[in-house]
Amino acid sequence: MSTLHVPKPVAPMMPRTLFTEDHEAFRATARRFFETEIAPHQEKWEEQQHIDRNLWNKAGELGLLCCTLPEDLGGSGVDRLHSVILMEEQARVGDSASGFSLHSDIVANYILNFGTPAQKQHWLPKMASGEVVTAIAMTEPGTGSDLQGIQCTAKLEGDEYVINGAKIFITNGYLCDMAIVAVKTGEGAKGSANVSLMIVEADRKGFTKGKPLKKVGMKGQDTCELFFEDVRVPKANLLGTEGMGFIMLMKELAWERMMIAIMCVSGAEFALATTVEYVKQRKAFGKPVASFQNTRFKLAEMRSEIQIARVYVDKCIELVLAKKLTPEAACAGKYWVSDLLSRVVDECVQLHGGYGYMLEYPIAKAYIDTRANRIYGGTNEIMKELISRSI
Ligand SMILES: Cc1cc2nc3c(=O)[nH]c(=O)nc-3n(C[C@H](O)[C@H](O)[C@H](O)COP(=O)(O)OP(=O)(O)OC[C@H]3O[C@@H](n4cnc5c(N)ncnc54)[C@H](O)[C@@H]3O)c2cc1C
Repeated sequence: MSTLHVPKPVAPMMPRTLFTEDHEAFRATARRFFETEIAPHQEKWEEQQHIDRNLWNKAGELGLLCCTLPEDLGGSGVDRLHSVILMEEQARVGDSASGFSLHSDIVANYILNFGTPAQKQHWLPKMASGEVVTAIAMTEPGTGSDLQGIQCTAKLEGDEYVINGAKIFITNGYLCDMAIVAVKTGEGAKGSANVSLMIVEADRKGFTKGKPLKKVGMKGQDTCELFFEDVRVPKANLLGTEGMGFIMLMKELAWERMMIAIMCVSGAEFALATTVEYVKQRKAFGKPVASFQNTRFKLAEMRSEIQIARVYVDKCIELVLAKKLTPEAACAGKYWVSDLLSRVVDECVQLHGGYGYMLEYPIAKAYIDTRANRIYGGTNEIMKELISRSI
């Protein structure tokens, strides 16, 4: 069994009702792309700690980047179920290297929702074609959960902002051509009103990138530190209004959290599928490991819990489409499904025995790759904090 093998999914207990034939046609394109262009290169990308730059252009050519953008801005004008399909297909091949969804479904939305017509025209078509790779830089060495505590400043000097500070753990950071950077533009008593979002081109003088960080898992994903030393950007690079950074960050937060839940439930399906294949062919005491009651009960439990998670996530996706998903429902999905994924992957490693600890097996890669889901996108503790506030 190699890391390139895509396991046959375990049959769902309930039909999914979200997708039309058009969606499934799009899925076929996405599946081909992930199977042929992404899955085979994981090892190489893990060594170099980022995907090949030309993959962004290939994804763009196939219409797989920023597909929900309107056509006149380079997208295909399709609904978010297409984004869901891309995330599911990424999880289906166990890919943890590509950072397309952050670029297409987070960064692009900031520009679409808050950009000036000139910013939209300048960035969005290039993002959709893959000519430009983007990142969003909020976390700093000294603060992550508490975004009001950021120290990176942007001071207005004449017609320019001068940016100083550092960001850490930034997805797509190494390859990015542009980053949306959370900066402090004020010193007022209300911390949240001091935060603004700035568009910063990677070739600006004083903007440097660290080497990709050595992570526990997701080793093929380029995640790095960004440094800003007297980086001058024109006033026109401000995204939205000064001091409105927090409000802007809130607008799509429910969707951004659901993105993690979507990838986690699909990741759990992948982990179960690869484990079912393994335990059916592995023998112990003259019998397939799948035949032991413990194995069957573990598989039954996981299949049930994943199905329950799937129903919740699909319901949330429906609510996203109707623009009715509440923040607390999204937080619940993010924390509960990412916890579930960790539990499932841990059990699946156990069912693999020693091979489950060997990185050539997809489940071992999943074990180290999936842990971060409970940390990024707002830690699971922060999710519970937010849910508790709405009680
Ligand atoms: C692989 C990866 C990719 C990432 N990509 C990006 C990216 O693209 N852009 C970006 O900006 N950031 C990114 N991050 C950063 C990520 O969002 C932060 O790591 C995360 O928000 C937590 O912040 P922190 O690391 O500073 O932890 P801290 O905030 O220092 O938290 C430490 C611990 O304290 C807990 N804690 C903190 N506050 C509370 C509280 N009020 N109540 C209870 N417990 C609390 C946390 O839950 C955690 O357990 C990425 C991180 C990883 C690992």
